[in-house]
Amino acid sequence: MTALLLVEDDHELAAMLQRVLGEEGYDVSHAADGHRALHLGLTRSFDVLVVDRGLPAVEGLDLIARLRSRGVGTPVLVLSARGSTSDRIEGLNAGAEDYLPKPFELAELLARLRALTRRHAERALVLRVGDGTLDLTSRTVRRGDGTEVALSEREAALLGLLAARPRQVFSRSELLDQVFDAAESDAAVDTYVHYLRRKLGRGAVRTVRGLGYRMGDL
Ligand code: CA
Repeated sequence: MTALLLVEDDHELAAMLQRVLGEEGYDVSHAADGHRALHLGLTRSFDVLVVDRGLPAVEGLDLIARLRSRGVGTPVLVLSARGSTSDRIEGLNAGAEDYLPKPFELAELLARLRALTRRHAERALVLRVGDGTLDLTSRTVRRGDGTEVALSEREAALLGLLAARPRQVFSRSELLDQVFDAAESDAAVDTYVHYLRRKLGRGAVRTVRGLGYRMGDL
C-alpha cells in the first residue's frame, strides 16, 4: 500500500481528498499545518507527499526545503492556488517533483501521483556505490569512469544488500538469509564475494575479520 501524507489546511478539501485517495488505495495520513507535517515527515516513512503551498505555521515550500535538508527524499507534489510559471519554478527549486495549480481535476491529481510514485520506485532500484551506481533492474554496475560490469542475479542481490547499508557489517548468516537459500552453507557467501571481487576489484567487498562483510570501494 502506498503511504501518502496529505498536508492541506482547507478542511473541506482535505476531507474530500482523504476519501478519494483512500478509495484509490492510498494509506492517507493528514496534517492540517506545517508543524504537524514536519513532525510526521521526519518521524514516519511515506511513499509520497501532497503539500498545499499556503499553510499555517510553516509555509509549504519552506516545509519541503526543511524536509529535504534533513535528508527526507520522498517525492512531493505541491498543490497551489498560485500557478504562474515562476511560482512553479519556485516550487520545483524548493525540492518538489511536481506542481499542480488549484483548482485541479481529481483525475489529473491521481494520474500525476501514479507517475510520481512509479518514477520514484524505479529510481530506488538504482543504488549509489562509491563513485558509481548499481542498477538492480539491469544488474549492471556503472563505475565512475563510465565502464560497465554485468552481474549475475545473485551477485547483484548480494552487492545490492551491502550497498543499501554501506556502513553495516553483515555476518555470513545474515547474507545467507537474505540473498541465498537457507539450505546453503556459509561457503556460498564466500564464493559470491569472490566472484564480485574478481569482477569489481578486491576492494569492492571488505572482509571484517571475525564478523563478516561490508561494502567496499569500486
Ligand atoms: Ca491553504
